[in-house]
Amino acid sequence: MGFTSKILHADRRGGVEHGSIHKPIHTAVTFGYDDARDLAAVFQGRQSGYSYGRQVNPTVNALQDKISLMEGGVATAAFATGMAAIGTTLFALLRNGDHMISSSYLFGNTNSLFNSFEAHGIEVSFVDSTDAAAVEAQMRDNTRLVFVETIANPRTQVSDLAGIGQLCRDRGVVYFVDNTMTTPYLFQPRTVGASLVINSLTKYIGGHANALGGAVTETGNFDWSGFPNLYDNYKKGEVSTWAITQIKKKGLRDFGASLGPEAAHHISVGSDTLALRMDRACSNAAQLTQYLAAHPAIKRVYYPGLADHPQHERSADLFKHHGAIFSVELAEMDCFDFLNKLDLVICTSNLGDTRSLAIPVAHSIYYEMGPERRASMGIDDSLVRFSIGIEDVEDLLADFEQALA
Ligand SMILES: *Cc1c(COP(=O)(O)O)cnc(C)c1O
Repeated sequence: MGFTSKILHADRRGGVEHGSIHKPIHTAVTFGYDDARDLAAVFQGRQSGYSYGRQVNPTVNALQDKISLMEGGVATAAFATGMAAIGTTLFALLRNGDHMISSSYLFGNTNSLFNSFEAHGIEVSFVDSTDAAAVEAQMRDNTRLVFVETIANPRTQVSDLAGIGQLCRDRGVVYFVDNTMTTPYLFQPRTVGASLVINSLTKYIGGHANALGGAVTETGNFDWSGFPNLYDNYKKGEVSTWAITQIKKKGLRDFGASLGPEAAHHISVGSDTLALRMDRACSNAAQLTQYLAAHPAIKRVYYPGLADHPQHERSADLFKHHGAIFSVELAEMDCFDFLNKLDLVICTSNLGDTRSLAIPVAHSIYYEMGPERRASMGIDDSLVRFSIGIEDVEDLLADFEQALA
C-alpha cells in the first residue's frame, strides 16, 4: 500500500473498540489488574501490558505504531517534544567518557542540548556533515554515535547521508538521524543505514501547530549485541529492540518527558494528511524560490531545489521533494522592514505548519549562540528563514512581490 493508505487505516487495523476509526483518547494514568500475577509479569517484561502513564499509554502506542509504519521501522518511542526525544535517547544510550560526532549545521536548540551534554562528561565533536570524510576524521575508539540532520535549518545544507551511513556501518557506530525537515514521506533514513531516527512531531507530522511531540524510531539496522551501554535487564527478545526498550523503560522512566494522550490524538489526526501537505508545501517552496532567486532585492536564496545549491544533486537523489524550508539574504533592504511588509506570511518561530512562517534567524533563534558561532554556521545578519505552508501559491507570490516592491 501507498504511504497515505497505510497510515489512514493504521488505527483501525491495530484494533479499536466499537469499530471506532480513530484510536480513542485514553486519559487513564494507571491500569488495574484482576490477577496480581499479571501485574508482576508486566512489570518484569514477561508480558506486554500497561503499567503507568509515564511510560505507556494506549493512544500514544497507536501513534508510535503509525510512526513506525511511516519510517518502515521496528518500533517507536514517543515523547513530549522533539527535544525530549533527542535528549532522552542520548541520556539512555551514552555515558560519561563517551564521544559523539554531530553535524555543526544543527537546529539551535539541539546545539544547546549537546553543549549541556558536554558539560556532563560526553565529548561532542562538531563537523561539516555535508562531507563523510569530515566525520571519519573525528572517529575515535570511544565514538559511540553520529548525529546529523537531513536538511539543516536555516541554511539548508544536506548531509552526506549515505556516505556517513556507510562509515557508521563499517565502524559499528550508532547513526542517529533527525528527519524532521524531510519527514518519512520525503525520505526514510533507514535506507541509508540510520540506526535511530528522530522526528519532531510538532512540525510536519502533526502539521497544524496545535500539539508538541517527538518520536524516536528504531530502524533495525544496528546490531546492538556489541553496544556496551545496554543494561542486561533490557537485553530481552529481538536484539533490534534492545536499545528502544532501554530508551522507553529507562529513559522515559528516569526523565518522564512523556507524550500526553490528547497531544498524541491531535498529532495522529494531523499526520493523516502528511503526504498531501508535503506535496503542496514543497511545490509552493519550489515556485517561490525560483521567483526569489531572480529578484534583484534578494542577494541569495538557500534551497536544495535550486540548481546552484551545493548539494542539489544529492537532494534530488535522496528526497522525493526538496523540502519546504528555504532562507534568503537580502541585498539592501532591512530584514525587519521586509518581515513587517509581509502580510500573509506570519512572523514567528516554528516550522512545518500549514501556514507560511518567517523568522529573522540571527536576531531570534540563533541570537544566544553569539556572532562567532553564527559566522561558523554561515548565518548572515540579514538571513530570513521561511517555512512555506499550503496556501495558494498565487497568494504567496503576490505577498512576496508587494513586500519586496
Ligand atoms: C523543532 C525541531 C526539533 C525539536 O522539536 P520540538 O518538538 O520543538 O522540541 C528538533 N529538530 C529539528 C530539526 C527541529 O526543527
